[in-house]
Amino acid sequence: MNVVQCDALVIGCGIAGATAALRLAQDRQRQVVVVNRASEAEESNTRYAQGGIVTLGEEDSADLLVKDILAAGAGLSHPPAARLLAEEGPRLVQQLLIETAGVPFDREADGRLAFGREGAHSRPRILHVGDATGSAIIQALVALLRQQPNVRLVTGATAVDLITFPHHARNPLSVYDPISCHGAYVFEHDSRTVHRYLAGATVLASGGLGRIYRHTTNPEGARGDGLAMAYRAGARVINAEYVQFHPTALAVPGGEGFLISEAVRGEGGRLLTPDGRPFMARYAPQWGDLAPRDVVARAIHQEMIEHDYPYVLLDIASALPAERIRERFPTIYARCLALGLDITRQPIPVVPAAHYFCGGVWTDEWGRTTVENLYAVGEVACTGLHGANRLASTSLLEGLVWGDRAARDIVACGALPVVSPDDVPPWEEPGGDEESDPALIWRDMRTIQYTMWHYVGLARSARRLTRALHDLQHLKQEIEDFYRATRLNDALIGLRHAVQAALIVAEAARHNRVSRGCHYRDDAKEGSTP
Ligand SMILES: Cc1cc2nc3c(=O)[nH]c(=O)nc-3n(C[C@H](O)[C@H](O)[C@H](O)COP(=O)(O)OP(=O)(O)OC[C@H]3O[C@@H](n4cnc5c(N)ncnc54)[C@H](O)[C@@H]3O)c2cc1C
Repeated sequence: MNVVQCDALVIGCGIAGATAALRLAQDRQRQVVVVNRASEAEESNTRYAQGGIVTLGEEDSADLLVKDILAAGAGLSHPPAARLLAEEGPRLVQQLLIETAGVPFDREADGRLAFGREGAHSRPRILHVGDATGSAIIQALVALLRQQPNVRLVTGATAVDLITFPHHARNPLSVYDPISCHGAYVFEHDSRTVHRYLAGATVLASGGLGRIYRHTTNPEGARGDGLAMAYRAGARVINAEYVQFHPTALAVPGGEGFLISEAVRGEGGRLLTPDGRPFMARYAPQWGDLAPRDVVARAIHQEMIEHDYPYVLLDIASALPAERIRERFPTIYARCLALGLDITRQPIPVVPAAHYFCGGVWTDEWGRTTVENLYAVGEVACTGLHGANRLASTSLLEGLVWGDRAARDIVACGALPVVSPDDVPPWEEPGGDEESDPALIWRDMRTIQYTMWHYVGLARSARRLTRALHDLQHLKQEIEDFYRATRLNDALIGLRHAVQAALIVAEAARHNRVSRGCHYRDDAKEGSTP
């Protein structure tokens, strides 16, 4: 009958979705289904997080952490969200990640947890597992999920649309009720069919949208699927103009998007044009190569645009002896070497890259959206924590805290009724039998990525944004026609979500003429705080 019924449906299996599912599964009577579009359950942005997860360090306090979060957020972080994170987060790290899941965070020789310090943190307070923290966390959480008898983990399953009333209701009188969510239509890759997943509560945990940009540190699945679905369902979306860019991602074929830590510049690395000219003094005479990440990212972007460079170079070989480079940056050294680049002798090709989405589906302190029975947690959501700019290493903890809180709120609501399959029409295949042409999908995705990169990227203006909206609207229509004419697959679903997500970001960026945090406008109004 192509129907799955459950008490709670979790869309996405990064730190936020996995945490929500684990908490929900504590009641063995509750049936929980987790879907992940990827074929591996662990595949997510979470898996690639390197630096670590914030907690409270040794001479630290919730007050200090809140202060640092608010300072990074450039006046737009929501203070109650920062307070919740700082007060509840450390306990959850201890209970869920350390005691229950057994994440092997690095320790000092005497057995105490080793706290790292990152930019804009006033204390050492970042827990890490080498430089592969996210991978250790998600492996541990998924292993726990697999042990839960009442959790069904479905991989290779892409949510296409949320099932909402009145939109999908058979009963016409439901038009008088508030918008409510009852699960999702989910495309199962193996059978190539769309099933109705009906649920009392639906938790959107589908992550960010870095992939709508030409250069990004995010993996394939970060296409803004959840944002697009929630928006179409009528949920409130906020702060979508705030996309954080990392200044230096690797730009070598096969290694695109791999993060080159800012510590490389900290150790004396210099940025050069491809023909060997230093350029940072022109953009930031007082700081040079050690300028803040936003300034560096914009300077690189400007050089690339002005001179049509495909990348710039980051030279550490001239600053440090080879042995010191290998010792200080073992992972970067090994990754580059595997790609044929010896960073002890050659400069590193780098580009800035879309890294983190600070905006998203508005939620309250329990992860509730403006649509009944729909929760959003993790990067897809906007709790207001990050304001206009995210403080390093706070996003994993946000997923943990709000994943847990959303689940607790669902539990507190008692057994939410699951609608009958009779009340929801089966999926109607929008397209015909014709297979979609991969060349069209690839090209359209590239058009979105280039449009976002050049017109809705690091430096924005009314002219660029108007042009972006015009191009994206036209493309959206083309994609919609294409979507309705061909057989469904994951890439086509992602393309449709990506163009919608791109429009949401571009529209928010056009609307906001004040430069603040990571939203920078060349034509900003007075009073901006770049
Ligand atoms: C390279 C890199 C380094 C980072 N380093 C750090 C760090 O050190 N510290 C830190 O705090 N943060 C870091 N971040 C950010 C952090 O990793 C993410 O913000 C966080 O992991 C997001 O978690 P999430 O659970 O919300 O989403 P994700 O972990 O991205 O999970 C989303 C899930 O949803 C699935 N999905 C997407 N669309 C659909 C669909 N339509 N149907 C079904 N499933 C779907 C995805 O496959 C995935 O499983 C880093 C990010 C990157 C990319």
